Amino acid sequence: MTHLAATAGSAASSALAWLCIAAVVALIVGGYLASCAVWPFANCRKCKGLGRFHAPSGRAWRRCRRCKGTGARLRTGRRVINHFRRLRADANR
Ligand SMILES: [Zn+2]
Repeated sequence: MTHLAATAGSAASSALAWLCIAAVVALIVGGYLASCAVWPFANCRKCKGLGRFHAPSGRAWRRCRRCKGTGARLRTGRRVINHFRRLRADANR
């Protein structure tokens, strides 16, 4: 009887622990997606936001080809948001 009660209690507490983990993960993911909705762009990884970088020879600047000279790249979370927005727009059409 005591053994049965103990296992039931630990199962409930482990379920509660998983629920807490899920809540924390949802909070982090939600916060990240919200920040991606507000700030969709991050610095280009190749040119570090400059949009250009030094040519290997001399002092000439080369336009960054990865970001087409803008110095910005779309964040991964924003890409996910755009994907789902597009799906919803297609579904409503
Ligand atoms: Zn770049």
